[in-house]
Amino acid sequence: MGQAAACSKMEPMPTLHIALSVYDSIRAHGEETYPHECCGALLGRSTPEGWRVTDAVRAANTRTDSAHNRYNIAPGELVRIQRDAAREGLDIAGFYHSHPDHPAQWSQTDFAEAHWIGCAYVITEVAQGRAAKTNSFLLTGTTEEDKQFELQAIEIDPS
Ligand SMILES: [Zn+2]
Repeated sequence: MGQAAACSKMEPMPTLHIALSVYDSIRAHGEETYPHECCGALLGRSTPEGWRVTDAVRAANTRTDSAHNRYNIAPGELVRIQRDAAREGLDIAGFYHSHPDHPAQWSQTDFAEAHWIGCAYVITEVAQGRAAKTNSFLLTGTTEEDKQFELQAIEIDPS
């Protein structure tokens, strides 16, 4: 009985669909900036099956103070990315960054700085310069107070 209740609360998260070329390019970005973090935005369309990501935009990491464990996209750059995306009929589907020599798990800082509810936060572990595991966390909830990261499946679309 208790199990049924638990099951209904554990509905699988919508899958993140991502074009192979985009998946490869965000992982390559992490290798290029190693041992520093890379970051960028994911562009795509919202579908009933979840986000379908068709493009990624690389962003300059503004955190020059500790670029190995922090990332940030400048607000002005974000506005520009969003405007350019809208022109192509795309939305910001999420954000990505790398974790040099750290697991592809979100940190407290990642969580504190995630404000786009409904968006996907993709993290790639870069181990000794090589892209390793890539995970996606969907930011769920309704407000800053009840937001949560939920691990979601990634499905790679051939492109
Ligand atoms: Zn992080």
